[in-house]
Formats: sequence, structure tokens, C-alpha cells
Amino acid sequence: MRNSFLAGNWKMHKTQKEAEELAGKLVTSLRDCRNRIMIAPSFTALSGVSRILKDSNILLGAQNMSTDESGAHTGEVSVLMLKDIGVSIVILGHSERRHVYNETDEVVNKKLKLALGHGLEVILCVGETLEEREGGRALSVVRGQLTEGLKDVSSSLLENVVIAYEPVWAIGTGKTATPEDADEIHRAIRKEVSSLYGTDAADRIIIQYGGSVKPDNVKDLMAMDNIDGALVGGASLKSETFIPIAEYNK
Ligand code: PEP
Repeated sequence: MRNSFLAGNWKMHKTQKEAEELAGKLVTSLRDCRNRIMIAPSFTALSGVSRILKDSNILLGAQNMSTDESGAHTGEVSVLMLKDIGVSIVILGHSERRHVYNETDEVVNKKLKLALGHGLEVILCVGETLEEREGGRALSVVRGQLTEGLKDVSSSLLENVVIAYEPVWAIGTGKTATPEDADEIHRAIRKEVSSLYGTDAADRIIIQYGGSVKPDNVKDLMAMDNIDGALVGGASLKSETFIPIAEYNK
């Protein structure tokens, strides 16, 4: 039985004060939530939010990290710095990183191995663009991102990997994949994990859906066999919308 995992990606939103206020509301309201919950504020709000989340059931995530552990990398943030302030999960390969900041599968894989090597969990994002979907290439793109992203990752380290399927055309657009369309890709991802790591690993791996998840569509998505959670952007920025998503099965 896979435990539902609902995660909020706050992207480049919220000052420190705003982030801490929202984190405080979530800690109080989700105290009895039986699902796994994570929030990923911006780097500048991480330490403040870390203090608020201490001893709570909400995990602290980061939205990105450097390919390197330390050194002359102006503007980058290292895995060691993230661990130091209480981050336990990092989102890697988000489509905005891939498509706006030109992150390749190779870069994503390097970051992923570094994060796992330091004991962080990783949410590995994969997903096709509209052009790729319309060209009938959704599955091959997702499979490619998955196999390249997981290259040289051992079965024991896969335990700390969550996959987020996020069709690029559904992110921040208000367009959601239908639950059936999303489930079809999730099933293909699970099959690919099975061929790479075996059926037990495939049964266990958590696959989140991301792309305009809202309180009014979360239940239908979560009802699908292969959808185990959600990675939420816009709707994670307000307690009124994130709380009902986090407790969709209350
Ligand atoms: C995201 O950025 O990962 C995302 C899914 O955003 P939104 O929920 O706003 O579509």
C-alpha cells in the first residue's frame, strides 16, 4: 500500500515573513493529516520555515540544488547547505529548470546522485511539452527523462526517489491532464521502473502528478491506480487551497 504524498512547490513566491506565516497555518491545520506532506519554499525562506516545521509532520523541501558540493559556483546552493538547515527532499528536473534554464538530463542525473549520496530524498520531475504530446512522443520523452535521470542509481538508493509526472502544458495553465490520461503515463512510468529495478521497486515507487492540481480535481486524480500524490504549484500558495488538497481523503 503506497502512502499518498502531497507536495507544494512555492517557486519564486513569498517573502520570508509570508512563507513563515503560511507554514505556520499548515502546521496547525495539518497536524492530524495522515498523508505525507512537503513544502518547498524559496531558498531565502528555508531556514525560517525550517524552524516553523520543526517537530511537525510536514517535510521541508528545496526547489533545486547545485551539481557540486562546494567551490567557486557563484549563485548556487549546495546539498550540504540544504541539509544543514533541515531540508530532507529536493525537487530536481522541474520543467522550468529544464526549459527555462536549459538543464539537461545529464545535469539532472548529476544532481540526483549527489542528493541521494548525501541522504536527501529526490522528487524527479518528468513530462512532455505540448508539441511532444501532439507529435505522439509523450511516452518516449518521459521514458527518456526517467532512464537518463536515474542512470547509475542503485536499487537501494531508488527507495529515496519519488517521480513527479508533470506534463509541461498543464503547469500553471489551468489545463489538467484527465485522470485517465495521467494514469496512462503513470502506468508506463511504473512499467519502466519495473524493467529497470524489478516489480517490487515498481510497486513501491511513489508517482506524483503535477499540473494545475486544485481542490476540485485532486480527488479524481488520486482515485487512479497509479497516481500516488501530487506536486502542486499555484494551489500550494494559499492555505485555503493547499489544505483541502493535502487532506483530500479526510
Ligand atoms: C508545478 O510547478 O510543479 C506545478 C504543477 O504548478 P501548477 O500546480 O501551478 O500547475
